Formats: sequence, C-alpha cells, structure tokens
Amino acid sequence: MRFQSILEEIVTTLRPRLGEQGQVADYIPALARVPAAQFGIALRTCDGQEAQAGDSDTPFSIQSISKLFALTMGMRAMGEGLWARIGREPSGNPFNSLVQLEAEQGTPRNPFINAGAIAVTDRLVSQGDPKAAMLELVSSLCGEPVHFDEEVAASEAATGFRNIALGNFMKSFGKIDNDVATVLDAYFHHCAVRMSCLQLARATGFLCRDGRHPFSGEPLLTERQTRRINALMLTCGTYDAAGEFAFRIGLPCKSGVGGGIVAVVPDHLSLCVWSPALDATGNSLLGMQALELFAARTGLSVF
Ligand code: GLN
Repeated sequence: MRFQSILEEIVTTLRPRLGEQGQVADYIPALARVPAAQFGIALRTCDGQEAQAGDSDTPFSIQSISKLFALTMGMRAMGEGLWARIGREPSGNPFNSLVQLEAEQGTPRNPFINAGAIAVTDRLVSQGDPKAAMLELVSSLCGEPVHFDEEVAASEAATGFRNIALGNFMKSFGKIDNDVATVLDAYFHHCAVRMSCLQLARATGFLCRDGRHPFSGEPLLTERQTRRINALMLTCGTYDAAGEFAFRIGLPCKSGVGGGIVAVVPDHLSLCVWSPALDATGNSLLGMQALELFAARTGLSVF
C-alpha cells in the first residue's frame, strides 16, 4: 500500500479545516498557548516502512497517551497483580470524572482515565523511580532521547486540582500506598513528555508486533498482555467517545489533551495523528477525522 501518498492526501484534505472548530486544552495554562493550526500524521509498519506528512516532526505534549506507557510499565513489573485495584470497563464519563469513584470504593474503572493512571503510577512509585523509567522506556522505543516539558509539568502541578482530588480521594479508600504529592508529580511529568507524531508512531510499534520492541525485536510484553492493551485502547482509550471511535474508525486508539491520538492496526502498523484543537470529549477533532479518512482509504480496521 502506498502509505506516503495516503498521508499526504489526508493532510491536503484536512488542512483547509484547521482552526475552524474545536479548542486547545486551556485548563492547563501551558497548553492553552499552543497554536491550534497545526496538523501532523506519521506511521510505521511492522516491517519498518515509515510515512509522514504535515507537522509530523513537531514535538507536542503527549498528555494521556503516556497512560499507555505507564500501563506497559505496570504490566511488566506486576503482571496480573496490577488488576487488584484497577478495573477494565469503559467509564462512560469524562476522563477526569470523580463520580464513579465514590460508589466503587476508590477503584478506578480502567487504567486510561485519570484516576486509573494515577493508581497505576502509585504502583510504579512503589517499584522505583517512575519518571526515569518513563523516559528510559519511551526513548528506547522511539530510538532517540525523549524529555519532559518541565513548563507543562509545573503548569499542571499548579492547577491540577481535580487530579489532586482524585489522588486524595483514592487514598481515603486505602487504594493509594504512597504519598499523593509524589505520585502526582510522577503523573504530571508522564503527561508532560514531549514527542512528535513520528516518534510516537515508532514508540507504539510494540503494540502491533505482539509486544516486541519495534527496533530490537526483544519481547517487552507477552502476546496476551499486548492484546489486552489493544482491547483497553479500543474500549477505553478515548474516554466517553470510545463507542464513537469504534463506530467510525474501528481501531484501538489512545488520545491525549495535547491533541495527539495513536492508533494501532495489529500485525500491520502503528500511527499517530496530532492537531491541538479538541472536541468536548477532549479528543483531537481533526485527529479523529484523519483516522476516519485513513480507515476508509486503507480499509484497515480490526473488524
Ligand atoms: N494531564 C491531563 C490531565 O490529567 C491528561 C488528560 C488527557 O490527556 N486526557 O488532565
């Protein structure tokens, strides 16, 4: 398949729509300053073919896409034990919602909403240094050094009252072992990792290769663990829009409020789209349209 021309075609189709709709995430002040009129797309196939178009080399804040890598670290370190305090059901609520947590005694619905990722991060704090481990993992996966955007991390730490509430609320149910401030510092840094579409397309390559490292081929996760991450992406990766994503695109996806969305075609390729303006569910508006065009144009879907 001629992926390069397909990606260029998607950029040509969507560029005129840049800035028409949606809003950049403004609840994190450092993200509110990102110019909305940017769009990039990149992919990497399992056999190492790459294609990219638009602003695909521009680094952006990966935000909740980091929840994928935190979950990967948690599964590697704890295996089945990770699921003792974290569910696997879609929440049907916004990513930062508090409502289910009280009724469900501080157990988050899944690892891809904020509460779930904070719970995963707590387990990682018990294992070692999750900030260093995150940079080591993503740098290795994309084949070049990756860093935190300290300004974004500080900006979220200063204004992340809901996440602070989520951490303390779970702690009140005995579901967080470590100091909440330490856990949130790691969580905010994970969200503040800066990567480009091309780097993310490379780094998520293990998800379309049965858990094998995209460059070395070494097993990072088992085939079964990888299948489970893809299942969670499909059902929970885009929050309360997961049904709409499955309906319109049909691929496991994980989004972040920086405007990035990664998608996986198992056994074929991993791809990343980025455009900062978001819809009401916190997913990139043009990113979703780009994935829809990609699925329609290539016929690639898990269904
Ligand atoms: N750092 C963001 C938050 O916790 C991540 C949310 C997201 O990308 N959906 O609110």
